[in-house]
Amino acid sequence: MTDSRAASSGATAGVALPYRLRLPGPTAVPERVLKAASRPMVAHRGPEFLDRFQAIQRRLQPILGRSGVPPFLFASTGIGAMESAMVNVVGPGARVLITTNGQWGPVFRRLAEAIGAEVDEVVSDRGAPIDLDGVRRALNDKRYDAVFTVHSESSTGALTDLKALGAIVAESEAVLACDSVSGLGGAEMRADEWGVDVVVSASQKALMCPPGLGIASISEKAWDLINRDDRGPRSYFDYRRFRPMAEKGEPTYTAPVAMLNALDEALTMIGEEGIEAAIARHARLNAALTAGLEALGFSVFPTGTPSPTLVVAKTPEGLSAPALIERLSDGYNAMIAGTRFEDLKDRLVRIGTMGYVTDGEILTDIHQISQAMTDLGRNADEGGAMAATAAKLSA
Ligand SMILES: *Cc1c(COP(=O)(O)O)cnc(C)c1O
Repeated sequence: MTDSRAASSGATAGVALPYRLRLPGPTAVPERVLKAASRPMVAHRGPEFLDRFQAIQRRLQPILGRSGVPPFLFASTGIGAMESAMVNVVGPGARVLITTNGQWGPVFRRLAEAIGAEVDEVVSDRGAPIDLDGVRRALNDKRYDAVFTVHSESSTGALTDLKALGAIVAESEAVLACDSVSGLGGAEMRADEWGVDVVVSASQKALMCPPGLGIASISEKAWDLINRDDRGPRSYFDYRRFRPMAEKGEPTYTAPVAMLNALDEALTMIGEEGIEAAIARHARLNAALTAGLEALGFSVFPTGTPSPTLVVAKTPEGLSAPALIERLSDGYNAMIAGTRFEDLKDRLVRIGTMGYVTDGEILTDIHQISQAMTDLGRNADEGGAMAATAAKLSA
């Protein structure tokens, strides 16, 4: 937030504009959370830190929608948390079903294949919802140990209907594991009620912390599988080491103290707002950013329910996404993301609405995108777009 620089042109030329981290992760971290991360180091098994650790565990439970085993917290990125789920749930020769509608299903596939599991994928188009009928058919045809899915597909902006998927998987013996790295804290999660047996997440998305902390939450149904010796090769990520420690309210290894201090403060902020209100805010801001972009000629990429934590949109015909992204960075000090999909590189932009985002941030997005379009020689109806955005913000 302190990294300012002068815009190179446009209406605000010469004025140092604040750095705006508008990626779908890592996301902007509130000052309060940054300050918490810089508290003096304390003993990670001393009483003051354990109190904090236990408070974090307790306050994560309603965000997860979990009431049983306390969540595991460890130093890792999101992909590490995904691997932790895989090596604990899946063993060599185990049968795994993966839902793929973007970039992250194939990551689960790679992790499962590395263990020597037998993998089937239910694939739908990028941006489409996951294929629930396909999952139902697959589970009827074969016995699977586990189904792996992605809550908020941050490559396409699609949200997975975990309630519907959970109901289908619950009719089988399979365990349902979910990557909610870019969902948790911004999109509703009811792990117990929906039958999501393993939820993995990370700190740097809707939980508005710096990157570096992994989270895993397990059900009793998953534990039967996890506790078996024939699962994947595991040591650092062995949930059998995590569970007894988590139940005592202690970190498994040397705790990433600064990161946990940050998460403690972020959870305090979420608590002050209320998790339901935070989730409603994500949906409202997402709808507002979407309306503003549509008024500028963009079209929303996901074809089903969009994830409330980011907007993935196609630029208007003829407007190069990389050029827009570069212009926003160079001219406005605003960072938005493109795509890794080669065939969509020229047209797709991705903007976070997750974590510490306010109404003003969304209005600034639309203002700066309008200006950047004008800089690039396009007509942009900034007034109309701002009005469309404001109407959704106050809805
Ligand atoms: C951001 C993200 C990840 C993250 O992985 P890192 O290892 O933290 O880079 C995983 N899954 C999804 C759906 C994400 O959005």
